[in-house]
Amino acid sequence: MTVGPSMCRVTALSSRERRAGDACPGVSRPFVAVDGSIVRLRPAGQPVRIDALATLMEVIAGQPDPSIQLTSRGALQLRGLPDPLTPRVRDAIRATGLAPSTTHELVRNIVASPLSGLDDAGHGDLRPVTRALDAALCAAPALARLGGRFLVVLDDGRGDVVGESFDLGMVATGPGRCVVLAGGVDRGWEVPLAAAVPRLLALAHEFVEQASGDESVWHVGDLTEPLGTGPTASLDGPPPPERPLGAVGDHAVVAVPLGLLRPVHVTALASVTDRVLVTPWRSLVIEHGAAALPDLEAAGLVTRAGSPWTRLHACTGLPGCARSALDTRTLARDLAPLLPSGHSPVHVSGCERRCGTPATAYVDVLTPRSTEEALSTIAEQESSWT
Ligand code: SF4
Repeated sequence: MTVGPSMCRVTALSSRERRAGDACPGVSRPFVAVDGSIVRLRPAGQPVRIDALATLMEVIAGQPDPSIQLTSRGALQLRGLPDPLTPRVRDAIRATGLAPSTTHELVRNIVASPLSGLDDAGHGDLRPVTRALDAALCAAPALARLGGRFLVVLDDGRGDVVGESFDLGMVATGPGRCVVLAGGVDRGWEVPLAAAVPRLLALAHEFVEQASGDESVWHVGDLTEPLGTGPTASLDGPPPPERPLGAVGDHAVVAVPLGLLRPVHVTALASVTDRVLVTPWRSLVIEHGAAALPDLEAAGLVTRAGSPWTRLHACTGLPGCARSALDTRTLARDLAPLLPSGHSPVHVSGCERRCGTPATAYVDVLTPRSTEEALSTIAEQESSWT
């Protein structure tokens, strides 16, 4: 397959605008917000055990509205934790196995085609490549310096994840063949699939050497010199496919409203499977789970394209973010049953920073004072597009 340059998003801040290194959180380095410590756990494109999710739910069980947040990089995030983390909380989180490396915890940022190996849409099964890349990354001491914002994407050729903003990437182009990418789809090298991980590792080492410890350099695009010797390939082609939802063969994909996985969801998942794969679209892949879709829907997970939750998003808002003018998520939950049908994402923001907005065009619902005002804003913006 081929991919066009327009699919690659740009970095929001230039390196000159950054005064400090990244603060991406982990167990080893929680970020402290107004409601306590935030910890992010990175499955690195690999399945998450349901008992690990249940353990995380136990850790946050005392919170008023306990939930595990799914991030746009397929990671899991807990907030409202003690500051500093107590040994009990830290040990419980580590016992899940979701932070297997103490040295490389923050740099295991890998997003792979979530359905790879489960259907016929790609050029083969990338799951062994994903595992090999994670293992090789963690085995290279110098690569602990990549930084928490550095992202590697592995696309099996269906074009679903190479459209994300990435630093290094690999796109399968046929059986046993791929293109390795640095910084975007227009700078790549054709290599055998077996050579993809070594080539990605070599480029990652080159990034670390060029960055020379400058903490304002987060991405390949921030470097003064391009990575790698002269590129031999670029990709251009169709837009990414529709995001999967519902039955995919005998597998299931369920979306999680607002990306907040709640205890009732985990209980329902536990009756169906022992593991899920977290997508970068705030949804979960359940192998051989299609027959259980009605039960998962009854638990509040989204299984149909017509659901308002497929297009409704909100930033953290109150009480977790002190900058917010409102409880954005409560407003979104009130809004969901009233939301008119439509295709464009609707994003509720608690302040002008507009955290977590989609990369595509979206309806901008900024600090609404009520659901009525939000509905009026949505109608106004959508009518201006037609
Ligand atoms: S958009 Fe504003 S209110 Fe919402 S999470 Fe970001 S900083 Fe907080």
